Amino acid sequence: MPDQPLRCDVLVLGAGLAGLRAAWAAAEAAPGARVLLAAPLAGPSGSALANVNARLGVLAPPADAQREALAARILALAAPGRADPALVAALLEDAPARVAELAALGVPMERTQGGALRLHPACFAQDHACAALLTELPRAHALLAARARALGAATLPGLAATRLLAGPDGAACGALLTRLADGAPVAVAARAVVAALGGPAGLFGATLAGPGSLGLGPGLLDGTGAALAHCGCVQFFWSEVPGGAFFRVHTLAAPGAGLRGPGGAVRPLPPELAAHAAARATHCPASWGLPDAALDRFLAARLDEAGTLAVALADGRATRIAPWAHSGNGGALVNPHGATTVPGLFAAGECATGMHGADRVGGAMVAAALVFGARAGARAARHALAAAPLPDKMFTDLMNNPREKPAPGARTARPAAAPLPADAPGALLTGDTHYIEIIKQNTLIALMESPSPLEEAALRSALTVVRDLHTID
Ligand SMILES: Cc1cc2nc3c(=O)[nH]c(=O)nc-3n(C[C@H](O)[C@H](O)[C@H](O)COP(=O)(O)OP(=O)(O)OC[C@H]3O[C@@H](n4cnc5c(N)ncnc54)[C@H](O)[C@@H]3O)c2cc1C
Repeated sequence: MPDQPLRCDVLVLGAGLAGLRAAWAAAEAAPGARVLLAAPLAGPSGSALANVNARLGVLAPPADAQREALAARILALAAPGRADPALVAALLEDAPARVAELAALGVPMERTQGGALRLHPACFAQDHACAALLTELPRAHALLAARARALGAATLPGLAATRLLAGPDGAACGALLTRLADGAPVAVAARAVVAALGGPAGLFGATLAGPGSLGLGPGLLDGTGAALAHCGCVQFFWSEVPGGAFFRVHTLAAPGAGLRGPGGAVRPLPPELAAHAAARATHCPASWGLPDAALDRFLAARLDEAGTLAVALADGRATRIAPWAHSGNGGALVNPHGATTVPGLFAAGECATGMHGADRVGGAMVAAALVFGARAGARAARHALAAAPLPDKMFTDLMNNPREKPAPGARTARPAAAPLPADAPGALLTGDTHYIEIIKQNTLIALMESPSPLEEAALRSALTVVRDLHTID
């Protein structure tokens, strides 16, 4: 059991892009309030600021015409999930200002010779040159962390949240965490909590997520009874095995390319799949809602027991590929202020959804982390100042006996889920061995006599993702 709890006004969980921006906003909105930022690592972590590509696209549509066109594209891409037009509008409205703010802070970005931001087309939106590029991510981390600290936010590195706590009234009131160095439990009481925990990709054996990406967000948020959506809509990139180098899957439709059989013979893709190649070339992740997902489904259905596929390229090169988990499109449903359906609980970045649906435009996630990180942090600070702290004794009881299930009625905001038809585009990769692997590994953990809080949280999260895989709100 934890000793005495730490206390704060706003607890931010996760020190990636969304968490740092939220801590900055909370400290700025409520000078003098105690803002704590807890995360597993002290240095750059997560998929944005510790990104393996060392650069990040971020949507920054410069004018109304681009914003309108992008909004239409984002909403059209949401099926078989749903994006909320109000959240999409907030995203596109605030994104240029949030990017300009980073530039003013000194975060390096790619620029034209004239000094303007160089804008690029984005995945799923090749007609829209609206994405700026952040180029030195460790520097971006240092500048953001310094800004949050200068405003008074304090950091607690070396900790991972394993449970979000709610008081008897159902409102968020803190979290239980594990100190990674020795497994010791730590409790933090808070008047408002911002979940900025990143996405689920870290749960997968083959992942592109950055260091410190534990993938616990879906399960932690589900445990509070917050309404969630799109948790099964994980983005997969076809990548080479071993190594994980990105593989342009549409090139398998080129003459001379195809699947390699046991004797090395090359079988071309069926002609009806080759017809999807041009559309598939316009986005790196496999789609959940576009017709070109037929190409990914065909390949996924032919993965071997290790989850890989032998392929040949048009130039004769042979390699193996596999779907690697990149990021998620699901999480807690939030309102334009980043508030979840649980009072006092806010979510931002990759563990929040609604500003995109099942698929999302490239650069939209980094923009969402900045926009909704800032909005959630500011609103959480305001909420904290108005909320009465939980009495000490009540919090200590709760911390020692956290409720197993959310309060009755807390889940009423969850939208009804309908099973996906087997042939729906969203059924992509449902037979994927990686998902099966998750269930197997985590079922084993569940069977262990006393799983650690971290293992238990990973199990909850994996089950939340898998449960949603066959249901789209
Ligand atoms: C290789 C790669 C390239 C990408 N490129 C782009 C791109 O160009 N444009 C784009 O828009 N998106 C891109 N994405 C997606 C984007 O980077 C992420 O969605 C983005 O990082 C989300 O920011 P975040 O702050 O929500 O999460 P993260 O940056 O992942 O940060 C999560 C934070 O939470 C911490 N954390 C995790 N678990 C816990 C816990 N239990 N308790 C406390 N803290 C915890 C982590 O350590 C980390 O500090 C890319 C992703 C990958 C993997």
